[in-house]
Amino acid sequence: MTDKYVLAIDQGTTSSRAIIFDHKGTIVSVGQKEHEQIFPRAGWVEHDPQEIWRNVRAVVADALSQAELNQNDIAAVGITNQRETTVVWDKNTGEPACNAIVWQDTRTAKIVDELGGSEGQDKYKDRVGLPLATYFCGPKVKWILDNVDGAREKAEAGDLIMGTIDSWVLWNMTGGVNGGVHVTDVTNASRTMLMDLKTLDWDPEIAADMTIPMSMLPEIRSSAEVYGEGREQGMLAGVPIAGILGDQQAATFGQACFEVGMAKNTYGTGNFMLINTGTEIVPSKNGLLTTVCYKIGDKEAVYALEGSIAVTGSLVQWLRDNLGMFKSAPEIEELAKTVEDNGGAYFVPAFSGLFAPYWKSDARGALVGLTRYVNKGHIARAVLEATAYQTREVLDAMEADSGVKLAELKVDGGMTANETLMQFQADMLGVDVVRPVVAETTALGAAYAAGIAVGYWQGEQDVIDNWAEDKRWTPSMDQDEVDRKYRLWKKAVSRTFEWVD
Ligand code: ADP
Repeated sequence: MTDKYVLAIDQGTTSSRAIIFDHKGTIVSVGQKEHEQIFPRAGWVEHDPQEIWRNVRAVVADALSQAELNQNDIAAVGITNQRETTVVWDKNTGEPACNAIVWQDTRTAKIVDELGGSEGQDKYKDRVGLPLATYFCGPKVKWILDNVDGAREKAEAGDLIMGTIDSWVLWNMTGGVNGGVHVTDVTNASRTMLMDLKTLDWDPEIAADMTIPMSMLPEIRSSAEVYGEGREQGMLAGVPIAGILGDQQAATFGQACFEVGMAKNTYGTGNFMLINTGTEIVPSKNGLLTTVCYKIGDKEAVYALEGSIAVTGSLVQWLRDNLGMFKSAPEIEELAKTVEDNGGAYFVPAFSGLFAPYWKSDARGALVGLTRYVNKGHIARAVLEATAYQTREVLDAMEADSGVKLAELKVDGGMTANETLMQFQADMLGVDVVRPVVAETTALGAAYAAGIAVGYWQGEQDVIDNWAEDKRWTPSMDQDEVDRKYRLWKKAVSRTFEWVD
């Protein structure tokens, strides 16, 4: 079997990828396609689920044809996905009730406030590990049932079902209206606000509070087991679909963070740092999330603490698309290098409120410290630095919650191509920042989960053996300078609070 390959579908926030890996975890081919970001109103972010499903098929076809492979060469398929983004669809027709509501969308702010009532943001935190915030799925489902014509009646009649993107893709891949399986994995379920972290099952009381019929919810399974096979008429007919992990958990898996205290940080649309806490559920006192890291088949679930930052790479996109400051994201580095430092400017990108460690839905972005001196280069630098400061805040929270002092930080994601940022990051954290050879750790993690489930790989040791270091950045900035910059950053953050009235 080891002469075969494993295919990972990485359905991300900005694009869908299909990546084929060989037994050494090396990339053989990649298909990739962006999808439309739909912004119907301020604070709303949607994706078209049908476009996503079309793109997934297109990128799978592309990856297979580039590598001149077909379904007989593929040992297993793994799925990884943008988390929390929520789809509600009719199981009889396959039609979505409306566009998917994306994780960054803040339309549920009022629902979230009402759910908290006098008990506030931490009402369900003991059970689900999450504060009440617009980020998570449950309130998004309630919004759809409350606002889409006829949705509640259809849901109560058992016709509408919900899922995160993994479930939507899996249901379609396994046949859709002709017997598609309606399943999710523990990592994705742990982001709904509806799953109990201890029992790894839905919490009917929370579902009732959110007026979500239990019949809408998928079955929760482990992250590595055979869920079903590719549908007969598809390109992956008969291939076992055997791994599902939310994108950040997949990256943690692909980065081989299998020991307690090992952490990774992914720099994509947003930033997500996860630290493995083993089989222990560690509650956060410092604004982090407690989440499931992975569960391999029948083995015990492994948990993580997570620091989620809503806006990092997407701030670079914003500079490109909304201000037209450059044509492609990597050009920001050249612009930043035209100046020595940020010229006193600090940019707090609270576009979707602030996530970890603040969880303030009513914060909005601010660019502060401006004088006539500040130019484009300084703003480019302030934008890159924003990612590094936000990461420092999360790391501080993580060390306080876990009691673990990080020795080094493994990094991945699109922004890690930016060397200026990576050096500044090492300076701000005071620890080495390390990038692996295979930067596509998200897809790799999903491939490993699927490969382990079907015996293509033996287990975690294969992941560890295949992991290799590409580049390391070591702190070099004067400590007083680090402290001064970080202090000013904190002051800038305080300017963004309570903006929405
Ligand atoms: P996702 O998986 O969330 O879609 P990726 O890991 O593909 O994201 O990373 C893409 C993000 O990284 C984009 O938001 C883009 O603006 C940013 N990005 C890509 N290259 C660079 C670069 N060289 N410097 C800074 N930001 C970059």
